[in-house]
Amino acid sequence: MSYSSRMDVYSPTHITLLTYIRSASSCSQSQLLKVLAKIIRAIEPEVTTASQSPVEPTITKEVLDGYISAINTKVNPTGFKIAKYRDQVSGTIYYIFISTVSDAITKSNTSYTPPEIDSIKKVIDDIIDQDSFVYSLGYVNSSQRVGQTLNKTARESNMFLTKLIDDGWFELTEEDRIVLSGRSICELKHYLVERYGLYGEDVEKGKLFVCQQCKELVTIGFKCKENSCAVSFHAKCLDFYNRLHDSPRCPGNCNFEWTEAGRRLGVLPETLK
Ligand SMILES: [Zn+2]
Ligand SMILES: [Zn+2]
Repeated sequence: MSYSSRMDVYSPTHITLLTYIRSASSCSQSQLLKVLAKIIRAIEPEVTTASQSPVEPTITKEVLDGYISAINTKVNPTGFKIAKYRDQVSGTIYYIFISTVSDAITKSNTSYTPPEIDSIKKVIDDIIDQDSFVYSLGYVNSSQRVGQTLNKTARESNMFLTKLIDDGWFELTEEDRIVLSGRSICELKHYLVERYGLYGEDVEKGKLFVCQQCKELVTIGFKCKENSCAVSFHAKCLDFYNRLHDSPRCPGNCNFEWTEAGRRLGVLPETLK
């Protein structure tokens, strides 16, 4: 029996894989492929013996996703799932264990007090509300925002902000700016879209962009130069789009050609650590 033929069964392999993903704040796809191979070798040794392979079995992305989808079927009724997201700059795929309830920001973070959650929401407000689509906030401003909300000293605020970065909410750029982490964007996608709206649907209010190519939020990438046009891309997604089209006219019915640089969204990718 091969491991792929057992994927419809919820086995100890699934449980161990789920435990691993839950305990890590995020794991890359390449890392998880190796982890799954190790788990299978440890738990289902007959699989590796049968294939006479002295090393761990080679796990394909499809096999990994088969396990993930079986786990999701099991955990969905409890309000959780393993989600997959692509890093906006590197394109690396990550897997994270997240809450599926709409107020995920509160429900999945029981380790924070309600005022602390409130301070996180305020920092996110400030990050998204910045002019010129920079989607980032200076470290000092972020710390002050936390301090005001929680009535903390500057030192305490800095410590709390550092904890939020360590816990994976935010990332700190080399220019000391706070940005939303890839994990937060994935986990809070519905919250963010509901609260800040999509550009173009409501030009006055909409503050967020969805990538034309991968349909995920873009906080680091490019927007069409035409002011009213909401078309945007991640840098890697734009490369892909330009390779597919000889004369890459903007899909937003405007005259912009995407061989020209679009308007920058977010921080310079090279400032991300
Ligand atoms: Zn994209
Ligand atoms: Zn356009």
